[in-house]
Amino acid sequence: MTNSPVTPTIPLDAIGTFHGFLRLPHSRDDSAWGAVMIPISVIAGGDGPTALLTGGNHGDEYEGPIALQGLAATLDPATIKGRVIILPMMNLPAFSVGRRCSPIDGGNMNRSFPGRPDGTVTQKIAHYIATHLVPLADIVLDYHSGGRTLDFLPFAAAHILPDKQQEAACMAAMAAFNAPYSMKMLEIDNVGMFDTEVESQGKVFVTTELGGGGTSTAASVAVARKGARNLLIHAGILDGTPEQGPSTLLDMPDGRCFVISEHAGMLEPLVDLGGRVSEGQPIARLWPTDHSGAAPRHLEARLSGILTARHFSGLVGMGDCVGVIAQPVG
Ligand SMILES: [Zn+2]
Repeated sequence: MTNSPVTPTIPLDAIGTFHGFLRLPHSRDDSAWGAVMIPISVIAGGDGPTALLTGGNHGDEYEGPIALQGLAATLDPATIKGRVIILPMMNLPAFSVGRRCSPIDGGNMNRSFPGRPDGTVTQKIAHYIATHLVPLADIVLDYHSGGRTLDFLPFAAAHILPDKQQEAACMAAMAAFNAPYSMKMLEIDNVGMFDTEVESQGKVFVTTELGGGGTSTAASVAVARKGARNLLIHAGILDGTPEQGPSTLLDMPDGRCFVISEHAGMLEPLVDLGGRVSEGQPIARLWPTDHSGAAPRHLEARLSGILTARHFSGLVGMGDCVGVIAQPVG
């Protein structure tokens, strides 16, 4: 086993309900022998598979933490076959300040895997999760939303994988989650992602994007809650009938999905989330912010499909992702 400095304050392999922390020593100005305390709950009912459910990988995304707090507070071990490990706020330092990245070291948790036992705070947390929690799991669900700078149509996602059997299991789990949209997802930058680490360990992995703008809605939280329960039924951990509604399958075929701005300016959306666009159609325009009387610059879709994500807040910087276009399948 690795020499992680993280210590769980609860047993990971006992029957029952346990709420505690992953404790990571963090000596600093305001606490000489202090620690970062990351909440963890383990609810176990005997033989069966293990699900690892995570939120707060990015600290400004709320559907996952809300759904997982509800699950941690209510799951009854008597109704569980196997074990559910819940980390509602994976990157607790980032979550505490409502930011994507950690205020301690600037670390983006989802670019920090597989982590290091002797690295930054964010790398140490990532390393413990990768080496001590993921190996226990058969299925992993990691909740995301757009955070403060993106807004998404609500979707669960699985990746195209080299192992087609594993890919099929991930796609089936994504379908079981049953968000209003289901995405065959292409990552803009998959190095260091939790997704990549979990998949490389051969696990069934589902991620989500459920909204954004640095908050949640009643509708997006309902999608998160229903999805977790459906997934636990799918995994054979909970009994019951999954709640299944229609879900539109989307695909991100290549890098043309991403509309990246080569200018800064004030964002005028020309298409809203869920709207259909054609290749070459402007999805937004950018107005100058420092003088009047000039024409706006247009940002065009590079393929036809549905506007699946958009930049959030009214100002766009150079290099910002302004929109994502995905294509309905079938
Ligand atoms: Zn995220």
